[in-house]
Amino acid sequence: MTDLIIIGAGVVGCAVAREMSRYNLEIRVLERGHDVAEGASKANSGIVHAGYDAVPGTLKAKLNVEGAKMYPEMCRELGVPYRKNGALVLAFSEDDRGTLQKLLQQGIDNGVEELRIIEKEELRSLEPNVSEDAVCALLVPTSGITSPYEMAFALADHAAVNGVAFEMNTKVEHMAWDGDHWVLETNRGRTEARMVINCAGFDSARLHDEISSRKLHITHRRGQYYILDHPDVLPFDRTMFQCPTRMGKGILVAPTVHGNVLLGPTAEDLDDGLDTETTQEGLDAILKACRLTWPKVSVRTAVTNFSGIRAHEAGGDFVIGPVEGAGKAWEAAGLESPGLSAAPAVGKMLAEMVAASEHLEKKAEFRAPIPRPRPFNEMTREEQKAAIEKDPKMGVVICRCEVVTEAEIRAAIRRPVGATSVDGVKRRTRAGMGRCQGGFCSPRVVEILSEELGKPMTEIQKGSEGSWLLCGTISEAMGGQEA
Ligand SMILES: Cc1cc2nc3c(=O)[nH]c(=O)nc-3n(C[C@H](O)[C@H](O)[C@H](O)COP(=O)(O)OP(=O)(O)OC[C@H]3O[C@@H](n4cnc5c(N)ncnc54)[C@H](O)[C@@H]3O)c2cc1C
Repeated sequence: MTDLIIIGAGVVGCAVAREMSRYNLEIRVLERGHDVAEGASKANSGIVHAGYDAVPGTLKAKLNVEGAKMYPEMCRELGVPYRKNGALVLAFSEDDRGTLQKLLQQGIDNGVEELRIIEKEELRSLEPNVSEDAVCALLVPTSGITSPYEMAFALADHAAVNGVAFEMNTKVEHMAWDGDHWVLETNRGRTEARMVINCAGFDSARLHDEISSRKLHITHRRGQYYILDHPDVLPFDRTMFQCPTRMGKGILVAPTVHGNVLLGPTAEDLDDGLDTETTQEGLDAILKACRLTWPKVSVRTAVTNFSGIRAHEAGGDFVIGPVEGAGKAWEAAGLESPGLSAAPAVGKMLAEMVAASEHLEKKAEFRAPIPRPRPFNEMTREEQKAAIEKDPKMGVVICRCEVVTEAEIRAAIRRPVGATSVDGVKRRTRAGMGRCQGGFCSPRVVEILSEELGKPMTEIQKGSEGSWLLCGTISEAMGGQEA
């Protein structure tokens, strides 16, 4: 019998796990994917929204603003990249100006600081590549960018350092209350817990509906993207939004925290919460909309396309707190955007609720996170030399595009919740994120994973279960003859 099971290891489940690990409890996180951040948390815009977009008085507004304020310090503590680059919401007509004024007022009501509307001249002086057709913009200096999956990994690592167990490839199929505890049916068998917290993203409403009289309805809203290789000079320093629509914050052109350029996302309602295909139609729509912001946009330097699925709850707000009609169960459901920005505040809020309800005691010692080493590609020449002297594997570059070394890949596999797949290495180190998309480094990454995990290379997977890369040696295929 575990004290607490958290369902889902997205950025929210990991934030909750880290906060709950401050208490004297045995905690397990069950995750259906093969790694942390396999849902919306791996495929989004990575923006730490300031909080002008959410309707005042909603949980979205409150937790967005609180979460965004927590980011700079939390990223410093956990070693996650973050940059307060600011944002602009562009108006292309007088109608749009009205929308900006509404956003400005919402932002003020939500407690967002430093917001103001700027006119064309100032806009073009701040961002010279913006379209001549933009007439004015809402300037949002407190908007930031981060790496969403690196945040989830860091939160998971810190929770694990404080005793939380992460169990991957474990899908919760059903849950039911059995008199004095929860029984969870998973694809790996039955398990029990005194308390549960449902952070299952796209599947959170299904699990909620099994145990609550108040039903939820989640629509799966896909967002597709282009990601462009890092240019020498970014076309925009700020995140460039257009006016939001009924379907979301609209299509943006944005720098990423690692210096790439992101174009997207679309907003398409789907039946399947796992349908992360990209489509010609979606990609064409992105390009068309981005031309409005950036007339010279070109996708010749695109390194890849991807998509993520928002969990849009029909009520339009986050559903956070005790599950209605079910004792000793809490949830964070319907966490579409700005869920990444809000995640630190959601974790804190839920942990405080559970602790107050269950009279939990804090541990005598909450251990500090294991410091994330500075990436080799961000070091000065002197720092690189010193790092190589300390560990010669720092001098072996495995990923040429992103300049990631063997020592960094081995360290990522050895983290408390370390990489177990090629994609896991990619998201923790950026090996394979560059223009060749792993064409050069994947075989070496497979070899290193095999050595570190003590498994034959034929058992190493690209990502999810069943994505093997190798089926045997060439000499085996040739019936034992020399190749
Ligand atoms: C296109 C797009 C753009 C976005 N842009 C931004 C942005 O710029 N800024 C921002 O703040 N927010 C943004 N968001 C929202 C943000 O990504 C989400 O709010 C956040 O990632 C939600 O985290 P989560 O942990 O709730 O969900 P998820 O990351 O989806 O995690 C849920 C986890 O639960 C697991 N799971 C599901 N079912 C089960 C089960 N039955 N048993 C066990 N495990 C299960 C999943 O595999 C998954 O890992 C965007 C979202 C999308 C899709």
